[in-house]
Amino acid sequence: MSVLRVILADQLSAQLDVVAAAEKGVDVFLLAEVMAEASYVRHHVKKIAFLFSAMRHFAEALRIAGHVVRYVALDDPENAQSLDGEILRAVTALCPKRIAITEPGEWRLREGLEALRLALPAPLDILPDTRFLCSHADFNVWAEGRRELRMEYFYRYMRRRHRILMESDGKPSGARWNFDAENRKPPKAGLASPRRLSFRKDAITLDVLDLVRRRFPEGYGRLEPFHFAVTRKQALRELDHFIAHILPGFGDFQDAMVKDEPFLRHSLLSAYINAGLLYPLEVCQLAEQAFRKGLAPLNAVEGFIRQILGWREFVRGIYWRFMPGYIENNALGATEKLPWFYWSGETRMACMREALAHTHDHAYSHHIQRLMITGNFALLAGLDPKAVHEWYLAVYADAYEWVEAPNTIGMALHADGGLLASKPYAASGNYINRMSNCCRGCVYDPAASVGDHACPFNALYWDFLARHRDRFGGNARMPFVYANWDKMGAEKQTALVNQAQTHLVAMREGRL
Ligand SMILES: Cc1cc2nc3c(=O)[nH]c(=O)nc-3n(C[C@H](O)[C@H](O)[C@H](O)COP(=O)(O)OP(=O)(O)OC[C@H]3O[C@@H](n4cnc5c(N)ncnc54)[C@H](O)[C@@H]3O)c2cc1C
Ligand code: SF4
Repeated sequence: MSVLRVILADQLSAQLDVVAAAEKGVDVFLLAEVMAEASYVRHHVKKIAFLFSAMRHFAEALRIAGHVVRYVALDDPENAQSLDGEILRAVTALCPKRIAITEPGEWRLREGLEALRLALPAPLDILPDTRFLCSHADFNVWAEGRRELRMEYFYRYMRRRHRILMESDGKPSGARWNFDAENRKPPKAGLASPRRLSFRKDAITLDVLDLVRRRFPEGYGRLEPFHFAVTRKQALRELDHFIAHILPGFGDFQDAMVKDEPFLRHSLLSAYINAGLLYPLEVCQLAEQAFRKGLAPLNAVEGFIRQILGWREFVRGIYWRFMPGYIENNALGATEKLPWFYWSGETRMACMREALAHTHDHAYSHHIQRLMITGNFALLAGLDPKAVHEWYLAVYADAYEWVEAPNTIGMALHADGGLLASKPYAASGNYINRMSNCCRGCVYDPAASVGDHACPFNALYWDFLARHRDRFGGNARMPFVYANWDKMGAEKQTALVNQAQTHLVAMREGRL
């Protein structure tokens, strides 16, 4: 044989060079389900099932297209249960002249490949991941010499570079780069998710569900109902459905949270884009077309494209520029253990319970729940960033370290010292009460800061600000909050700090 072409679980894209350049009937594709990857964190069982089923369907599509595929199932008795082990086993069996692989998204796998290279009898080609719209080199050129790395400027650079939502005079569509101010509406009465697609489970998916049930009995989360798209064709249907029916309302209530409505107007596309079933550029282009044809308003389309062309590419750039140290960051010296309720969902805080239930049942919660509920609580309570990072990496179907770590360590926890965000995303119960309808059903009172029924987010918020005054007191975006703190007077401040301690004790004892 000529080339052994290795495809990782999040590289299921026919456009990648490793696939597109293959010689039919000569080269061999290797896809392997291995325990080392399926268990290095306590992944959500839906995530494992989604990836195994999508891998098996991708392998099937390659075979139908005339390629030779070596597919190693988790239950294969010969399975070495690690990527290195499976590559070495295939090389020994097939004696390829070369081995080709797309660069992995995660640092630890990239490092592993460099080590494996030394043990391989044939050259290993690590090819760039061309699905991303900004290469490592281009990000570094953009970042070099800047005092601060801010997503907004990177996003403008990407809009110009890829000519997305740009007019012929070189100005952004609508003469503004950002329509965020129109996208932060609190939920209106009756706000609900439009109908979502649900895909029929075929024999491959049923086999995978059975496998996951047998092999991951202690896995986190609910396996069924299982509604994921597992082929590119299905993912494209999900994309078309989103563009036609949901995108027009994407912007307005982007930050809203509603009880029993996990999806609202969010796209649910991240798991598909990250695994390779959809391409980020095609997603942005389809959204732009909807705007050009008058089918979706600019605030919705711009808000959506910013997430993909801006945030998604930006966090990847940050990850690769600052790894391997990035995931060790703990700028705020946070050391609290992750409370058990992150896994069990058993807490009296209704907003947390809701976000954790979505996470457990769907391997999903939307951005504001991740940032302003579970992330905000972790920030205010001073939870250990490494433990929080491992939790986020485990529980969502779209989680891979390159995208999860900057969002968790940088955006949610400010543990990178402000590399990614100029101020911490800290908020009290007041914000949650405004942006959700959870507080109505909560034992805590969002208007109370001290006392038995005081909302924990309130005292923890003030205590957080007081604890970190040295760091944030001079922040140009935070003078009002510190002015409010100062206005309270010593007695109220002491009561808030004591109340925060009471909440932390309750958290440690599983009573919060
Ligand atoms: C603490 C924390 C952890 C996160 N972990 C992940 C993760 O592991 N994987 C992941 O893909 N996203 C992660 N995000 C970002 C974001 O929450 C998800 O991308 C989004 O919720 C996915 O749902 P959706 O497809 O319905 O997104 P939509 O709200 O419909 O957004 C559209 C698309 O934009 C992209 N996007 C939106 N926000 C971000 C962002 N901040 N960073 C990168 N891409 C973004 C996604 O591809 C998403 O599909 C995290 C955010 C936070 C605050
Ligand atoms: S009162 Fe506080 S804890 Fe309860 S739902 Fe509202 S913000 Fe969350």
